[in-house]
Amino acid sequence: MKLDVNVLRYLSKDDFRVLTAVEMGMRNHEIVPAELIDRIASLRHGGTYKVLKNLLKHKLLHHDSSKYDGFRLTYLGYDFLAIKTMVNRGVFSSVGRQIGVGKESDIFEVANEDGTVMAMKLHRLGRTSFRAVKSKRDYLKHRSSFNWLYLSRLAALKEFAFMKALQEHGFPVPNAVDCNRHCVIMSLVQGYPLVQVKQLQSTDIVFEKIIGIIVRLAEHGLIHCDFNEFNIMIDDDEKITIIDFPQMVSVSHRNAEMFNLSFEANADDSDSDADSDAVKPRFSSIKKASGFLDKELSASGFSRKEQDDIEKFNEGGLEKIPGSDDEEIEEDEGHNSSTINASDIQNFDSLCSLTKDDDQPMGCGMNGEVEEDQQ
Ligand code: ADP
Ligand code: MG
Repeated sequence: MKLDVNVLRYLSKDDFRVLTAVEMGMRNHEIVPAELIDRIASLRHGGTYKVLKNLLKHKLLHHDSSKYDGFRLTYLGYDFLAIKTMVNRGVFSSVGRQIGVGKESDIFEVANEDGTVMAMKLHRLGRTSFRAVKSKRDYLKHRSSFNWLYLSRLAALKEFAFMKALQEHGFPVPNAVDCNRHCVIMSLVQGYPLVQVKQLQSTDIVFEKIIGIIVRLAEHGLIHCDFNEFNIMIDDDEKITIIDFPQMVSVSHRNAEMFNLSFEANADDSDSDADSDAVKPRFSSIKKASGFLDKELSASGFSRKEQDDIEKFNEGGLEKIPGSDDEEIEEDEGHNSSTINASDIQNFDSLCSLTKDDDQPMGCGMNGEVEEDQQ
């Protein structure tokens, strides 16, 4: 996906105010009625409508008038909100080339004022899974377009929280820098995904390192669930870094015993050499470690409730999205604009303060491709 961040240069404070208003309205509207956006943004002299047009032109919003005149955020619009917040926080100041396309994410290089290059992962939950799930049953119905906001945000928070906790416990993971909405900033890993490496200098050592990490994860009460050659990075010195923990579960999770039993079964298969016992964690012994990282995870805001929600989604069973009221959504045709209350407006003002002094254009131009898009 192309991320034309140069548009950011031309967006004003009012543009971001209206974009944020749409985001807020999407908490309980799939398509946010234009008049509700206008009320939340409260720009003078019908300014909201002019701004909406501009945001639409830059594809930050999608217009839907099938039931009533309304708008929703596009991925790009959500990207811009996250990027803007990060830039205002001073986390980075420029966006460069795309370095990875995952199943449900896009990864870009970003750089801060000092020229330090980092990786920005934009979670796109729903890009594939909603389509897949939808084909099986009408799982999320028309609610999907704001579910992806919530789920992508959860996925980013989960990744950030795990990365931080794992790093604190000495695991070889990228350095977790910051997280906002569906966006995670982490250190850039030098090297390549193991899947791209044709030959290793010391296969045995690499294998041992990898098995060692699995065992240590298990000792910490964790199972990666997606531990494969796509999510193991290796550099020229054959140093290993683990990335991407979307399905990681704690052994306190109700299905963990099943995951782990299959792991033990696999370990049993390779029981031919005497050393294998040393790398074979047993559910009974690692069960004690359950909940070990819970404190660290909730320190990043990823608490039990968030864990449960995303695990339910991974299992395909999250029927109702917290923070949304299904009744309200069903009645959306009548677009009950009274669903935004005073505390929401207060939150909105603090959200907007993040974009207060943004009349300065932001620097963005690490690569030619992005510059080309400027006009
Ligand atoms: P997904 O969850 O969609 O599978 P990943 O986190 O596995 O996404 O990232 C996809 C690809 O992006 C990786 O295979 C890797 O090539 C690249 N990538 C991801 N994170 C980093 C990073 N921190 N440093 C360098 N490359 C990265
Ligand atoms: Mg991956």
